[in-house]
Amino acid sequence: MSLATLKEVLDDARQKKYGVGNFDVFNLEMLRGVIEAAEETESPVILAYAESFETLADIRHYGKLLRSYAEAASVPVVIHCDHAVTLEEIQRVLESGFTSVMIDASDKTFEENVRITRKAVEMARPFHASVESEIGHVAGLEALFENDHNVFTDPETARKFAEATEVDALAVSIGNVHGVYRKEPDIQFELLERLEQEVPVPLVLHGASGISDEDTRRMVRCGITKVNYYTDLCIAASDCIRQNADKHYYELSKAVVDAVKEAAKAKMLLLK
Ligand SMILES: [Zn+2]
Repeated sequence: MSLATLKEVLDDARQKKYGVGNFDVFNLEMLRGVIEAAEETESPVILAYAESFETLADIRHYGKLLRSYAEAASVPVVIHCDHAVTLEEIQRVLESGFTSVMIDASDKTFEENVRITRKAVEMARPFHASVESEIGHVAGLEALFENDHNVFTDPETARKFAEATEVDALAVSIGNVHGVYRKEPDIQFELLERLEQEVPVPLVLHGASGISDEDTRRMVRCGITKVNYYTDLCIAASDCIRQNADKHYYELSKAVVDAVKEAAKAKMLLLK
C-alpha cells in the first residue's frame, strides 16, 4: 500500500530538491492515465479532486475510488482536495479518505486566513492528513472570488503565516495564474528565492500549465516542491477526442487514458 500524506511526499522533495506533480483528475480516464504515468516514471504523485467537480461525481464516492487506486499503486500517492473554501468541506473530505486538503482563504484578511487555516490544521490532525494553504493570491478562479486579481506573496508575511498556522505546505503567488496564460508568464524568481529562505514549509505552485519547461525546472531548483497541473491534461484529452471523434466511445475512452498518460509523464520527467 502506498497511500501517502502531502507532508511525507513534499518533505522528501524539499530535502532532495525535486518537484512532485499535482494533477486534478476529475474522471476515471484522467485518474488511470496519471497513475500509470507515475508508475512508469517511478514518481510520487498527488491526485487532486475538488468540490467544483462534483457535477461529475460526488466527492465522498470519488475519494474512495482515488484511495483504492492509491493503495494499489507501486509509488507514493497523495489524495488531495484542491481549493476547499469552507471548513464544512474540509470535514467532509477528511471523512471521505483524503490524505491532504487545501484550504483556500487567500481572498480573506491575513487574520481571517490564519484563523481558518489554523482550524483546518486542527481538524486534519486526527485524520493524519496534511493541510496546504495559500498566502498572497493566485488569480484565475473567478467563479470562486469576486474581483479576482494576482497579489504577490510577501516573504515576511508568509513566514509569519506558516508559523501561526503550522500548515504543512504553502501555495505562493509569484507571477503564476490559474488556467490559460493570456501572455507570457513572468515568474518572479528573486521573490521565490526569498520565499524559500524565509518560509519553513514546502512551497506550492498553482497554475503550472503553460509555464515553459526551462522556467519550471528553475522554479523547482529555487524551492517549489508541489507543481499543480490541470489545464495541460485537459488540453491533451480534448485534442485526443477531436482527433478520434469517429471512434466508438469505448475506444475513445482508452485513447484518452493514453493521451493523459503521455502528458502527465512529460511533466513528471520534467520535475525529476
Ligand atoms: Zn489552484
